[in-house]
Amino acid sequence: MNMDLHVHSTFSSDARASMQQQCERAVQLGMRYLCFTDHMDWFTHDRPVCFEGLDGYFRELERVRKAFAGRLVILAGAEFGEPHRHEKKLEQLLQYPFDMVMGSLHGIADAQGTALVHTAKANGWSLERTYRAYWKEMEIISQMDGLDVIGHLDLPVRSYHELCVEDAQMHRIMQNLCKHHTLLEMNTSALRKGGFTLMPDLPLLSYYKEAGGTHVTLGSDAHTVWELGNDLNRAAQTADLCGLKLCYIQQHQRREVEMFGPATFAMPSNF
Ligand SMILES: [Zn+2]
Ligand SMILES: [Zn+2]
Repeated sequence: MNMDLHVHSTFSSDARASMQQQCERAVQLGMRYLCFTDHMDWFTHDRPVCFEGLDGYFRELERVRKAFAGRLVILAGAEFGEPHRHEKKLEQLLQYPFDMVMGSLHGIADAQGTALVHTAKANGWSLERTYRAYWKEMEIISQMDGLDVIGHLDLPVRSYHELCVEDAQMHRIMQNLCKHHTLLEMNTSALRKGGFTLMPDLPLLSYYKEAGGTHVTLGSDAHTVWELGNDLNRAAQTADLCGLKLCYIQQHQRREVEMFGPATFAMPSNF
Protein backbone atom coordinates (compact mmCIF):
# COMPACT_ATOMS: atom_id res chain seq x y z
CA MET A 1 0.00 0.00 0.00
CA ASN A 2 1.39 3.35 -0.92
CA MET A 3 0.05 5.47 1.90
CA ASP A 4 -0.38 5.55 5.65
CA LEU A 5 -2.28 8.57 6.89
CA HIS A 6 -2.40 7.83 10.61
CA VAL A 7 1.12 7.80 11.96
CA HIS A 8 2.44 8.90 15.35
CA SER A 9 5.89 10.19 16.13
CA THR A 10 7.62 11.11 19.38
CA PHE A 11 5.59 14.32 19.37
CA SER A 12 2.92 12.00 20.82
CA SER A 13 3.82 10.97 24.36
CA ASP A 14 2.71 7.37 23.74
CA ALA A 15 4.75 6.83 20.56
CA ARG A 16 8.22 5.39 20.26
CA ALA A 17 9.43 6.37 16.80
CA SER A 18 10.77 9.68 15.60
CA MET A 19 9.58 11.28 12.37
CA GLN A 20 12.93 10.40 10.85
CA GLN A 21 12.53 6.71 11.77
CA GLN A 22 8.95 6.53 10.49
CA CYS A 23 10.02 8.13 7.20
CA GLU A 24 12.92 5.71 6.77
CA ARG A 25 10.56 2.78 7.37
CA ALA A 26 8.01 4.21 4.93
CA VAL A 27 10.67 4.38 2.22
CA GLN A 28 11.67 0.77 2.96
CA LEU A 29 8.04 -0.25 2.55
CA GLY A 30 7.75 1.59 -0.76
CA MET A 31 5.22 4.11 0.49
CA ARG A 32 4.60 7.43 -1.12
CA TYR A 33 2.29 9.34 1.24
CA LEU A 34 2.72 9.64 4.98
CA CYS A 35 0.71 11.79 7.33
CA PHE A 36 1.90 12.48 10.88
CA THR A 37 -1.15 12.68 13.09
CA ASP A 38 0.23 13.32 16.54
CA HIS A 39 -2.17 13.48 19.46
CA MET A 40 -3.85 16.55 20.77
CA ASP A 41 -5.75 15.28 23.77
CA TRP A 42 -7.05 16.87 26.94
CA PHE A 43 -9.35 14.20 28.23
CA THR A 44 -7.67 13.19 31.46
CA HIS A 45 -4.69 14.32 33.46
CA ASP A 46 -3.07 10.92 33.26
CA ARG A 47 -3.08 11.23 29.49
CA PRO A 48 -0.72 14.14 29.13
CA VAL A 49 -1.37 16.90 26.70
CA CYS A 50 0.66 16.04 23.69
CA PHE A 51 1.77 18.07 20.81
CA GLU A 52 2.27 21.16 22.91
CA GLY A 53 5.22 22.36 20.90
CA LEU A 54 3.54 22.97 17.59
CA ASP A 55 6.44 25.06 16.40
CA GLY A 56 8.81 22.18 17.11
CA TYR A 57 6.49 19.79 15.27
CA PHE A 58 6.44 21.94 12.16
CA ARG A 59 10.18 22.52 12.33
CA GLU A 60 10.87 18.78 12.38
CA LEU A 61 8.23 18.15 9.71
CA GLU A 62 9.92 20.66 7.41
CA ARG A 63 13.26 19.02 8.06
CA VAL A 64 12.05 15.53 7.09
CA ARG A 65 10.14 16.96 4.12
CA LYS A 66 13.44 18.28 2.79
CA ALA A 67 15.38 15.15 3.73
CA PHE A 68 12.88 12.87 1.94
CA ALA A 69 11.98 15.19 -0.94
CA GLY A 70 11.27 13.22 -4.12
CA ARG A 71 10.75 10.03 -2.14
CA LEU A 72 7.89 10.77 0.25
CA VAL A 73 5.01 13.20 0.36
CA ILE A 74 4.92 14.09 4.05
CA LEU A 75 1.66 15.56 5.24
CA ALA A 76 1.02 17.57 8.38
CA GLY A 77 -1.80 16.16 10.44
CA ALA A 78 -3.24 16.16 13.92
CA GLU A 79 -5.33 13.61 15.77
CA PHE A 80 -7.61 15.88 17.72
CA GLY A 81 -9.36 14.20 20.64
CA GLU A 82 -12.93 15.08 21.60
CA PRO A 83 -13.17 18.04 19.22
CA HIS A 84 -16.73 18.83 20.33
CA ARG A 85 -15.42 19.74 23.79
CA HIS A 86 -12.61 21.94 22.50
CA GLU A 87 -14.02 24.00 19.67
CA LYS A 88 -11.91 27.06 20.51
CA LYS A 89 -8.74 24.98 20.46
CA LEU A 90 -9.78 23.47 17.16
CA GLU A 91 -10.19 26.96 15.72
CA GLN A 92 -6.69 27.82 16.93
CA LEU A 93 -5.29 24.62 15.47
CA LEU A 94 -6.77 25.41 12.09
CA GLN A 95 -4.64 28.56 11.95
CA TYR A 96 -1.60 26.32 11.53
CA PRO A 97 -0.65 24.90 8.12
CA PHE A 98 -2.07 21.43 8.67
CA ASP A 99 -3.00 19.29 5.69
CA MET A 100 -5.44 17.10 7.59
CA VAL A 101 -7.19 17.33 10.93
CA MET A 102 -8.60 14.07 12.19
CA GLY A 103 -11.25 14.05 14.88
CA SER A 104 -11.16 11.13 17.31
CA LEU A 105 -13.17 10.13 20.32
CA HIS A 106 -10.93 8.57 22.98
CA GLY A 107 -12.84 9.56 26.09
CA ILE A 108 -16.52 9.30 26.90
CA ALA A 109 -18.79 10.54 29.64
CA ASP A 110 -22.28 9.82 30.91
CA ALA A 111 -24.26 10.85 33.99
CA GLN A 112 -22.39 8.30 36.10
CA GLY A 113 -18.83 9.07 35.12
CA THR A 114 -16.11 9.29 32.51
CA ALA A 115 -13.90 6.70 30.87
CA LEU A 116 -11.24 6.27 28.27
CA VAL A 117 -12.71 4.13 25.51
CA HIS A 118 -9.79 1.72 25.44
CA THR A 119 -9.98 1.01 29.20
CA ALA A 120 -13.76 1.28 29.70
CA LYS A 121 -14.27 -2.47 29.52
CA ALA A 122 -11.51 -3.16 32.05
CA ASN A 123 -13.07 -0.54 34.28
CA GLY A 124 -16.41 -2.30 34.31
CA TRP A 125 -18.32 -0.35 31.69
CA SER A 126 -20.75 -2.69 29.95
CA LEU A 127 -20.84 -2.91 26.17
CA GLU A 128 -24.23 -1.16 26.09
CA ARG A 129 -23.16 1.67 28.35
CA THR A 130 -19.95 2.34 26.45
CA TYR A 131 -21.59 2.33 23.02
CA ARG A 132 -24.52 4.46 24.21
CA ALA A 133 -22.15 7.15 25.50
CA TYR A 134 -19.80 6.78 22.57
CA TRP A 135 -22.33 7.16 19.77
CA LYS A 136 -24.07 10.01 21.55
CA GLU A 137 -20.83 11.98 21.52
CA MET A 138 -19.92 10.85 18.00
CA GLU A 139 -23.26 12.14 16.75
CA ILE A 140 -22.32 15.59 18.07
CA ILE A 141 -18.88 15.37 16.45
CA SER A 142 -20.47 14.35 13.16
CA GLN A 143 -22.20 17.72 13.01
CA MET A 144 -18.97 19.72 13.28
CA ASP A 145 -17.14 21.66 10.60
CA GLY A 146 -13.38 21.81 10.40
CA LEU A 147 -12.63 18.09 10.58
CA ASP A 148 -11.26 16.44 7.48
CA VAL A 149 -11.66 12.90 8.68
CA ILE A 150 -12.91 10.83 11.62
CA GLY A 151 -10.35 8.43 13.08
CA HIS A 152 -11.31 4.88 14.05
CA LEU A 153 -15.06 5.57 13.94
CA ASP A 154 -16.06 2.56 16.02
CA LEU A 155 -13.19 2.49 18.53
CA PRO A 156 -15.06 0.47 21.22
CA VAL A 157 -14.96 -2.55 18.90
CA ARG A 158 -11.22 -2.78 19.55
CA SER A 159 -11.74 -3.80 23.18
CA TYR A 160 -15.28 -5.23 23.17
CA HIS A 161 -14.83 -7.22 19.93
CA GLU A 162 -18.46 -6.60 19.17
CA LEU A 163 -20.22 -3.85 17.29
CA CYS A 164 -23.34 -2.29 18.73
CA VAL A 165 -25.24 0.34 16.74
CA GLU A 166 -28.72 1.73 16.59
CA ASP A 167 -29.81 1.80 12.97
CA ALA A 168 -31.47 5.23 12.85
CA GLN A 169 -28.65 6.87 14.80
CA MET A 170 -26.00 5.43 12.50
CA HIS A 171 -27.87 6.74 9.47
CA ARG A 172 -27.91 10.20 11.07
CA ILE A 173 -24.19 10.10 11.90
CA MET A 174 -23.26 9.14 8.36
CA GLN A 175 -25.55 11.72 6.82
CA ASN A 176 -24.03 14.40 9.05
CA LEU A 177 -20.49 13.38 8.10
CA CYS A 178 -21.30 13.53 4.40
CA LYS A 179 -23.05 16.88 4.78
CA HIS A 180 -19.99 18.34 6.53
CA HIS A 181 -17.59 16.77 4.01
CA THR A 182 -15.91 14.73 6.72
CA LEU A 183 -14.39 11.50 5.49
CA LEU A 184 -13.99 8.22 7.27
CA GLU A 185 -10.65 6.69 8.04
CA MET A 186 -10.25 2.92 7.86
CA ASN A 187 -8.01 2.16 10.81
CA THR A 188 -6.22 -1.18 11.11
CA SER A 189 -5.00 -1.02 14.72
CA ALA A 190 -7.63 -3.40 16.13
CA LEU A 191 -6.20 -6.22 14.01
CA ARG A 192 -2.95 -6.21 15.95
CA LYS A 193 -4.60 -5.71 19.34
CA GLY A 194 -6.53 -8.92 19.57
CA GLY A 195 -9.38 -7.75 17.36
CA PHE A 196 -10.62 -9.13 14.07
CA THR A 197 -12.03 -6.13 12.34
CA LEU A 198 -11.11 -2.91 10.63
CA MET A 199 -12.43 0.24 12.25
CA PRO A 200 -14.80 0.67 10.53
CA ASP A 201 -15.39 -2.53 8.59
CA LEU A 202 -18.06 -3.56 6.09
CA PRO A 203 -21.23 -2.99 8.18
CA LEU A 204 -20.52 0.67 8.96
CA LEU A 205 -18.96 1.33 5.57
CA SER A 206 -22.27 0.26 4.04
CA TYR A 207 -24.06 2.97 6.04
CA TYR A 208 -21.44 5.47 4.87
CA LYS A 209 -21.85 4.48 1.24
CA GLU A 210 -25.63 4.64 1.51
CA ALA A 211 -25.40 8.17 2.93
CA GLY A 212 -23.35 9.25 -0.09
CA GLY A 213 -19.83 8.63 1.20
CA THR A 214 -17.38 8.16 -1.64
CA HIS A 215 -13.85 8.35 -0.22
CA VAL A 216 -11.88 6.97 2.72
CA THR A 217 -8.38 7.39 4.06
CA LEU A 218 -6.27 4.50 5.39
CA GLY A 219 -4.30 4.49 8.61
CA SER A 220 -2.35 1.99 10.68
CA ASP A 221 -2.25 4.23 13.77
CA ALA A 222 1.41 3.25 14.09
CA HIS A 223 3.08 4.24 17.33
CA THR A 224 6.26 2.31 16.45
CA VAL A 225 8.06 1.69 13.15
CA TRP A 226 6.98 -1.93 13.21
CA GLU A 227 3.32 -0.97 13.05
CA LEU A 228 3.71 1.33 10.09
CA GLY A 229 1.61 0.18 7.14
CA ASN A 230 0.19 -2.85 8.99
CA ASP A 231 -2.80 -4.46 7.26
CA LEU A 232 -3.42 -1.56 4.92
CA ASN A 233 -3.76 -3.88 1.94
CA ARG A 234 -6.68 -5.55 3.64
CA ALA A 235 -8.21 -2.14 4.30
CA ALA A 236 -7.75 -1.13 0.67
CA GLN A 237 -9.36 -4.35 -0.53
CA THR A 238 -12.31 -3.79 1.79
CA ALA A 239 -12.72 -0.23 0.54
CA ASP A 240 -12.69 -1.55 -3.00
CA LEU A 241 -15.30 -4.14 -2.13
CA CYS A 242 -17.55 -1.35 -0.84
CA GLY A 243 -16.99 0.81 -3.92
CA LEU A 244 -15.15 3.44 -1.89
CA LYS A 245 -12.16 5.31 -3.28
CA LEU A 246 -8.93 6.02 -1.49
CA CYS A 247 -7.55 9.47 -1.02
CA TYR A 248 -5.03 11.44 0.94
CA ILE A 249 -5.70 14.94 2.16
CA GLN A 250 -3.47 17.86 1.31
CA GLN A 251 -4.26 21.38 2.51
CA HIS A 252 -7.67 20.06 3.55
CA GLN A 253 -8.43 18.93 -0.01
CA ARG A 254 -8.98 15.28 -0.87
CA ARG A 255 -6.73 13.87 -3.57
CA GLU A 256 -7.66 10.54 -5.00
CA VAL A 257 -5.02 7.84 -5.29
CA GLU A 258 -5.05 4.54 -7.06
CA MET A 259 -5.92 1.56 -4.91
CA PHE A 260 -2.64 -0.30 -5.26
CA GLY A 261 -0.36 2.03 -7.07
CA PRO A 262 0.78 3.50 -9.28
CA ALA A 263 4.26 2.19 -8.66
CA THR A 264 6.00 5.33 -7.57
CA PHE A 265 9.48 3.96 -7.34
CA ALA A 266 11.53 2.48 -10.15
CA MET A 267 12.14 -1.23 -9.77
CA PRO A 268 15.81 -2.17 -9.58
CA SER A 269 17.01 -3.25 -13.00
CA ASN A 270 17.71 -6.80 -11.84
CA PHE A 271 14.20 -7.24 -10.42
ZN1 LIG B 1 -6.84 7.44 18.30
ZN1 LIG C 1 -3.77 7.56 16.65
